Amino acid sequence: MPNFPPSRADALARLAAFLPRAGAHYANERNADRGPAARDNVSLLSPAVRHRLISEAEIAAAVLDRYAFSTSEKFIQEVCWRSYWKGWLELRPQVWADYQAALSVQIERIGDGPGVDRPFRKRWQAAVDGATGIACFDDWVEELRSTGYLHNHTRMWFASIWIFTLNLPWVLGADFFYRHLLDGDPASNTLSWRWVAGLQTRGKHYLARADNIQKYTANRYWPKGELNEDAAPLPPDELPAAGRIADLPPPKAGLRTALWLHEDDLCAESWPALAGLDVVAIGGDVTPAARSRLPVSEAVTGWTEAALADGLDRAGRHFGLPAVRITPSQRHRWLEDHRIEQLVTAYPTVGPVAETVAALERELAARGIALIRVRRAWDTAFWPHAGKGFFQLREKIRPLLAELGIP
Ligand SMILES: Cc1cc2nc3c(=O)[nH]c(=O)nc-3n(C[C@H](O)[C@H](O)[C@H](O)COP(=O)(O)OP(=O)(O)OC[C@H]3O[C@@H](n4cnc5c(N)ncnc54)[C@H](O)[C@@H]3O)c2cc1C
Repeated sequence: MPNFPPSRADALARLAAFLPRAGAHYANERNADRGPAARDNVSLLSPAVRHRLISEAEIAAAVLDRYAFSTSEKFIQEVCWRSYWKGWLELRPQVWADYQAALSVQIERIGDGPGVDRPFRKRWQAAVDGATGIACFDDWVEELRSTGYLHNHTRMWFASIWIFTLNLPWVLGADFFYRHLLDGDPASNTLSWRWVAGLQTRGKHYLARADNIQKYTANRYWPKGELNEDAAPLPPDELPAAGRIADLPPPKAGLRTALWLHEDDLCAESWPALAGLDVVAIGGDVTPAARSRLPVSEAVTGWTEAALADGLDRAGRHFGLPAVRITPSQRHRWLEDHRIEQLVTAYPTVGPVAETVAALERELAARGIALIRVRRAWDTAFWPHAGKGFFQLREKIRPLLAELGIP
């Protein structure tokens, strides 16, 4: 069974152990899901990289240290899918707001209020309980709930069955994933569900087919005759034009500065733009419950809190300062005690963490304390190329890696 210890040490060990398989083996084998006990064909790095216990740049550098680009291109490309989705959503934050609005409407339908639609709620409940009668789907629900992870190909089949066979709204499926995946990420999750539905690449949807499932699950499943293999894509929605990635003001030297960790980047030791700052305190908090109005799994909550503890511990040792979790009620006191004039945090990407940080910024502004976001060079390099399809970004991977000093 996959087990994901929430620490940078584990992420580094996991990467080192996977490196021998990150070349041709990954390119040939990555699509197979032979079950939770046989997962050596993929890296299982996503919970760590999503929370930046390890960074995309570190992964790319380690892989390219061992292989030629041509041998490891497939794996590097997959890592860059994460950057593509993040950049795409940064350029169109309205898509996240629209997803939230559509989700609220569907949550009313499954709730206890006047908007409840009981037959619909029953169908949704059967899906999230793994009681649809489609054996593969029901097993994947159990796997997701018990491990907090699903293989990429399985996520595609799952989303397709949810949308086109069970005829459930994609937003509720995305929400179910987001509440249970340890790597739950607003961009990768929401936009992958949109991609399966045919909303992301207009008119091109992903249809799960029984024969394909049989082939890539090593005959474990063959849902012949159980899936809708002829469905049309969902009707297109309005896509906002791509905006631009804003420049960020740098932190100021000479101010009493605190570092603030959150779940989008738990590796403060390698944040940019910290040289020369008067760092006097380190704090942080995570808000996994903000992922949804519906309950977020205990596994996600526990994992995220433990990952924060790991991030604080490392940051504390690196900067030689106490580093502690600060709850909202402790914040005022903590800022006062350390006479903080500036709070520096990692740039939070579109989603609940960005909303929490924006609220924190307003609270600090009222006290005359500046909140400064710092963005990693990797994101600054990749995101502007995410305005169109992945193909356009893919063409830029090599020059961007060179620009970032990754050979
Ligand atoms: C419907 C759906 C929902 C998804 N939701 C999420 C999510 O919430 N969070 C998340 O991190 N990923 C999500 N993914 C992407 C992908 O499934 C996971 O990142 C991948 O399965 C993680 O396993 P791994 O680390 O073993 O990947 P590997 O195959 O070893 O890939 C290496 C790394 O590349 C990145 N990567 C690989 N495939 C993708 C992809 N398709 N999109 C983006 N990044 C990728 C990840 O960082 C991963 O750790 C989703 C995919 C689908 C189809």
